[in-house]
Amino acid sequence: MQITPKQLEQVNDRIKALVSSGSFYGKKLAEAGITQVNSYEEFLNLPFSEKADLRDAYPLGLMTAPEEKIVRIHSSSGTTGKPVIIPYTQKDVDDWAIMFARCYEVAGITEKDRIHITPGYGLWTAGIGFQAGCERLGAMAIPMGPGNTEKQLEMMQAMGSTVLCATSSYALMLAEEIAKRGIRDKIRLKKGVIGSERWSAKMRERIANELGIELYDIYGLTEIYGPGIGINCEHNTGMHYWDDYLYLEIIDPETGEPVPDGEKGEIVITTLVKEGAPLIRYRTHDLSRIIPGECPCGRHYPRIDVIDGRTDDMMKIKGVNVFPKQIEEVLATFTEISSEYQIRISHLDGKDTMRIYVESTGDVDFAALSKAIADRVKSRIGFTPIVKVVEIGILPRSEKKSKRVIDERYD
Ligand code: ZN
Repeated sequence: MQITPKQLEQVNDRIKALVSSGSFYGKKLAEAGITQVNSYEEFLNLPFSEKADLRDAYPLGLMTAPEEKIVRIHSSSGTTGKPVIIPYTQKDVDDWAIMFARCYEVAGITEKDRIHITPGYGLWTAGIGFQAGCERLGAMAIPMGPGNTEKQLEMMQAMGSTVLCATSSYALMLAEEIAKRGIRDKIRLKKGVIGSERWSAKMRERIANELGIELYDIYGLTEIYGPGIGINCEHNTGMHYWDDYLYLEIIDPETGEPVPDGEKGEIVITTLVKEGAPLIRYRTHDLSRIIPGECPCGRHYPRIDVIDGRTDDMMKIKGVNVFPKQIEEVLATFTEISSEYQIRISHLDGKDTMRIYVESTGDVDFAALSKAIADRVKSRIGFTPIVKVVEIGILPRSEKKSKRVIDERYD
């Protein structure tokens, strides 16, 4: 999707702010002699930014507005190395809340709703984003944070929560717990707003059915405000994103070249009005595509497809490139198994082995089912995995994101 003249103007305004502040990216742009871009072609020559570079700016190197304008910082998890610190001005905080409130509105949530927020509060952007958007909308926030399922269910019943905000893993865990306790008729949930980890159609269906709610995927990342930069509408034809705040590109992750609308690639985001830490052409490593054409809902905001994985998800096993999504799609064709699975890759006697654990109820023939799954996976990826069927409820459920792929080869 080509950049509009208005967006190009906004990019130039951000380039000017970056360069004049002498911040981390300002210096990089100045060294490259970039002061403005005059066309889409020139925009495409702007260098990408990467999470690894953002770490080099630790702690406050990204700060582009004067310090007295900064009202808050957030930080993205540093699983490897230093965390990334993102400074926000009051305008950034407000803009984020406006975008988030827009997400709730698109999901049909109103000021009469009671929003049960289970994502965590703290340095990361999750809980507070859901809350600020809720307050902006005028709905009632129930700021639970994660954990303590007992308390979650008690409050959900007492407060009559109508909207559940959660990761898909935690939503599933709560759904299972509600079913187990037989309290579904005491739960007033109507909608779920689910954070943007990749989740299978099967898991989605299970959460929706068990809780009897409509589900919405919300997109976002800490480097770019946080969650709330896009959500699907009632037609469920991909996620609308807010092109008055962001310019999105889809690129070929190998070549860095833009791909035509409709084709899959990596999402690259440029912030158009962010002050505290503007980012130009930030590589998210999330895989999706632009959905061409108009949405039946009539909203003019463009759409991306649900997140299809990450560029770094790819596993090389026995010399074959395998994506977890491929395995997931095969598993989805078996009605006898639950939505949960775990893939373990190990290196034994000089050979790579892939084991897939799936869950089923006790009334199926585990051996026959394993063989059927192994055969179908082989026809998809080219080699035969070891499939183990376990009792339902055995695989770990998580309050955050479930780790479904464990590579033990390099431990
Ligand atoms: Zn729509």
